[in-house]
Amino acid sequence: MNKEGYDLDFEPTPENRYECPICLLILRDPMQTVCGHRFCKCCIERWINDGKGKCPIDNSDLTDGQMFPDNFAKREILSMKVRCPNRKSGCNTCLELKHIEEHAESCPYHYQFCPNNCLSQLLRKDLDDHLQEQCSKRSVLCSFCEESMLFESYGEHEIICPARMVPCDLCKEDVMREKIAEHVATTCPHATVKCCFFLLGCHKEIKREKMEKHMKSHVQKHLQLMCCAFVKLLNFQNIESILSSRTSGNTSTQNQTESIHDPIEISGDLTALLQTAEGAASGVADGAPWRVPRVTLPNVRSLSIAGPTTKPPPIERSTSEGKSTNLADGASSSELFDTEFQSLKERNTYQDESLARHSHELLELQYKYNNLERNHKDLRQKMRALEDKINSLSDIEGRLCNGLFVWKIKNYLQRRREAETGEMTVIHSPPFYSNFYGYKLCMRCNLNGVDFSVGRHLSVFIHFMQGEWDDILSWPFRGKIVLSVLDQNPVADQRQHAVETLVSKPMLAAFQRPTTHRNHKGFGYMEYVPLDVLDNSTYVVNDTLILKAQVFPEV
Ligand SMILES: [Zn+2]
Ligand SMILES: [Zn+2]
Ligand SMILES: [Zn+2]
Ligand SMILES: [Zn+2]
Ligand SMILES: [Zn+2]
Ligand SMILES: [Zn+2]
Ligand SMILES: [Zn+2]
Repeated sequence: MNKEGYDLDFEPTPENRYECPICLLILRDPMQTVCGHRFCKCCIERWINDGKGKCPIDNSDLTDGQMFPDNFAKREILSMKVRCPNRKSGCNTCLELKHIEEHAESCPYHYQFCPNNCLSQLLRKDLDDHLQEQCSKRSVLCSFCEESMLFESYGEHEIICPARMVPCDLCKEDVMREKIAEHVATTCPHATVKCCFFLLGCHKEIKREKMEKHMKSHVQKHLQLMCCAFVKLLNFQNIESILSSRTSGNTSTQNQTESIHDPIEISGDLTALLQTAEGAASGVADGAPWRVPRVTLPNVRSLSIAGPTTKPPPIERSTSEGKSTNLADGASSSELFDTEFQSLKERNTYQDESLARHSHELLELQYKYNNLERNHKDLRQKMRALEDKINSLSDIEGRLCNGLFVWKIKNYLQRRREAETGEMTVIHSPPFYSNFYGYKLCMRCNLNGVDFSVGRHLSVFIHFMQGEWDDILSWPFRGKIVLSVLDQNPVADQRQHAVETLVSKPMLAAFQRPTTHRNHKGFGYMEYVPLDVLDNSTYVVNDTLILKAQVFPEV
């Protein structure tokens, strides 16, 4: 064990002779030297290993061989009473030193971090409660869907748990979330549904709970619709059979007289057939009184054929045989209708299911959309913070310029044109300071002049701005400001900067302490440089005009 003395709360405080002169703590594994001094084993070994071959107390020579373990003192120390180091957190245990380490392993008042890494620090005795009741990272079971998750994600899960009961938007009845779409599609009494005779022509759309009443009160209408559909079906098949018999050249008057209907009307004419069917259908649409459509059945045999596209079998020649077949055909036509009805029902179920699926997909999309919206908001906030940082950076630049500020006006021609057309007659420079803790000001420039210099001169002014140090500066501002329009002639000694020195006039509003973000009144020159001079010189190069201001506050 490589440790210095015991840093514990002894009760009572041991005598000085039990203290190690090196670490000033109570001796751990005491060693006695031949010169009669005692040290912790680890302390004195380190001392000697560091090359100090002398006793730290009396400077007499000391080597490894000149020390021995003081077991008597060790026993004495180990049986001294100490207080548990967790006394501050509430442990009142006081016991012999030799038992203290064992106690520390299990002391209920020992602080430790939650093993789930929730970053909570708690007493050992509270750990079980924490893990079971409070830890945000404990795993919990959703009592609805039985999915296991961390407690901290439970709140989010509640909002989407597919097995939770939520009220239906329409009927307010509690329904399992994942079954909502199905509920609306199949049972919700307030969902709007189509009459099941919709395909046959009843276009009623009402709440499901009203449907039963509708079905009862509209029996006659529904029957009428069904009948019309049936007639159309029959006629359609007849047309098929006529077409097929005409092409095979088999038509005979004898066969056409066979019919199960009374009165029998014989017609081999295609047009007449179509008219009959249309008449029956329009009768219903107009709300005309119920009537049995007159049906012409030139060839009833064809009813036994399942689909309109199938070709009919060859026509029987014998009349008596034909009649007996007709009865059987009547039965198979009702089967045909059953099949048709069955397939309608199946299609309806299929559509309900796909509606449920779509509603579910819609819910998922909505959830994803909400997430995106949240991310977007976060990003916007981050962007705003960045913008603030950039602004404060450019502010620093204005402070560090130490009163000498150079302003580059790029896109000169376009800005000049904007000034000429009145779109934007004035532009301001970024703010700058006369020194780090000094006056804050900016330049203002009318590229096409102002007032009586409009169209003739470039005008340049200085404006004072509200600054951070206004309280400790003296007002009105006194001093000089040197303004220049810089000549950018490539040959340095031919440059003729247009320089003007402006001396403050303390009486003027322009030099008073600003009471608005930027003083409305400025001070400068309306006729700084004639525009035609500017246009025919090297003041504007690369479509850029450069202004300079140098501030000299009076000291
Ligand atoms: Zn000594
Ligand atoms: Zn020591
Ligand atoms: Zn304790
Ligand atoms: Zn925890
Ligand atoms: Zn759940
Ligand atoms: Zn409902
Ligand atoms: Zn209906």
